[in-house]
Amino acid sequence: MKKAQIALYSAGILLMVSACSCSKETTKGQEQVTSAPKMYVPEFSADSAFNNIARQVSFGPRIANSEAHEACGAWLASELKRHGADSVFVQKTNLDGFGPMTNIIGRYGKNKENRVLLLAHWDSRPTADEEADVALHSRPIDGANDGASGVGVLLELARLIGQKAPEIGVDILFVDAEDAGNEGDEDSWARGAQYFAENMPYGVNEPLPRYGVLLDMVGGYNAKFHRELFSESYSKPVVDKIWSLAKNIGLSSRFPDQVGGAINDDHLPLIRAGIPVIDIIESRNEQTGGFNPTWHTLQDNIQNIDSETLGAVGRLITQLIYTEKI
Ligand SMILES: [Zn+2]
Repeated sequence: MKKAQIALYSAGILLMVSACSCSKETTKGQEQVTSAPKMYVPEFSADSAFNNIARQVSFGPRIANSEAHEACGAWLASELKRHGADSVFVQKTNLDGFGPMTNIIGRYGKNKENRVLLLAHWDSRPTADEEADVALHSRPIDGANDGASGVGVLLELARLIGQKAPEIGVDILFVDAEDAGNEGDEDSWARGAQYFAENMPYGVNEPLPRYGVLLDMVGGYNAKFHRELFSESYSKPVVDKIWSLAKNIGLSSRFPDQVGGAINDDHLPLIRAGIPVIDIIESRNEQTGGFNPTWHTLQDNIQNIDSETLGAVGRLITQLIYTEKI
């Protein structure tokens, strides 16, 4: 991993934490932030998001050419359908050096022109190459945080949308092949997102989503989410909007109003394709860099998933989607 004055991490993130004085947020009692007329905002269930993560992990590592990968992908598509998506589009191809790749897109309020894209990667890293013990490097990780956490939050949001839709349309995208990259080869990461960006399932006259939000590593204990630097550079109005919303609903300690490191992640191909996407990812700060200690290790498992973190991120995204106006 290389680290410059501004650290650039592949597929990931970087962070480190100073003494964490995270306040305890509640997932209950979402408050209406916008002024009248009041808009309905459902209650995000952190327990449901947690269970969605446990279910993904139970398939086994979601790596290419495995039964777990195939079965989990089928389950994700079926969940989006079960939660009432207008359409579920399964985008498959074969990627050199990876294998069969599957992106899964569930569209809610498909005919609404004003829409937002929410995404997370559903594959898991095939190697535990951040383990101190080199003998463990060849083992695949559970990827409970790195991958499954963002998907778990978005599946819970899909459930809420299925019960009562927000005003805007929402596209939920689960991208594959994010986390099988190699250090020093920037294009070897986020390959599912690259493929999606080159083959977007939008009609010629159909507007692109107004903006997008990527969730990655949103389940770590005491996680904090700084303003990721690429997001800040290319999608700043979206970052401003979301960090301001976080402050308004009492999550400013969880979402400090400070710029973090630059992370090579699934948002970059989409930004290049014309959608201002931001990355909500556990990130500490640019001076210190670094990720959650479980990152790309065998400790990235369900025991290290914190429902409070899931609840904070889920509450923010729910508030965002349900107060967004046409
Ligand atoms: Zn990763």
